[in-house]
Amino acid sequence: MSLRRPLIAGNWKMYKTASEAALLAREIRQGVEEALRERDVVLAPPFTSLRAVAEAVRGSGIGLAAQNMHHEVEGAFTGEISPVMLKDAGCSHVILGHSERRQLFGETDEGVARKAQAAFAHGLTPIVCVGETLTERESSRTMEVVERQTERALRGLTADQVAALVLAYEPVWAIGTGKVATPAQAQEVHAFIRRLLDRSHGEPAAAALRILYGGSVKPDNIASLMAQADIDGALVGGASLKADSFLQIVHYPKA
Ligand code: PEP
Repeated sequence: MSLRRPLIAGNWKMYKTASEAALLAREIRQGVEEALRERDVVLAPPFTSLRAVAEAVRGSGIGLAAQNMHHEVEGAFTGEISPVMLKDAGCSHVILGHSERRQLFGETDEGVARKAQAAFAHGLTPIVCVGETLTERESSRTMEVVERQTERALRGLTADQVAALVLAYEPVWAIGTGKVATPAQAQEVHAFIRRLLDRSHGEPAAAALRILYGGSVKPDNIASLMAQADIDGALVGGASLKADSFLQIVHYPKA
């Protein structure tokens, strides 16, 4: 049996004003107290709601993530937010390399690598996203793409850092589309990633690393995904925007 603690993270994307986010965070807090004994929960609101959510979850054990950051501490980078600022706002985690950032905002593997190192340097746990597009899957390039993204994004990290970080396998064709990867499809890629990291950073790091699945996770498919040996949690988009569906996901029944 896996010793890795399950982690359910909610990515709120560009939804919720600060007061809406605080309300949702309070509802989630009330519903997860028991579950936090054996599962981790992380919420990722937009930058402008971080402080309000930090306040709402203070002392609960719920983690707080930003959805992106710049790798520098400060400087003339209009519109960017630094790791120091995220720590100051109460963040414990930061999502890096989400496919929407890669596809819509030109995020590169090298940029993700710089950000992952900066996150560790400032005491933030990175949640690094990888995943193939539909065209890449249909041309049998899934493993090649995931290998390249993982290898490049984690370049320069120590074995201890790899053990502590969180990876999210998010097939792009499954994000926000209602098309979920089958548990077997997801497990195949998760096991592949773990083998890669076993080779690059050693068995203890690969065994400790948590790999989340993301892509149309809902209350009715979470249990079958979590029953897979190498799926350690979920990064949830749409279904994390309502307390009811997110809480059902957090409370998935054990296999
Ligand atoms: C995501 O935003 O990371 C995601 C997986 O979205 P959804 O659950 O809506 O597919």
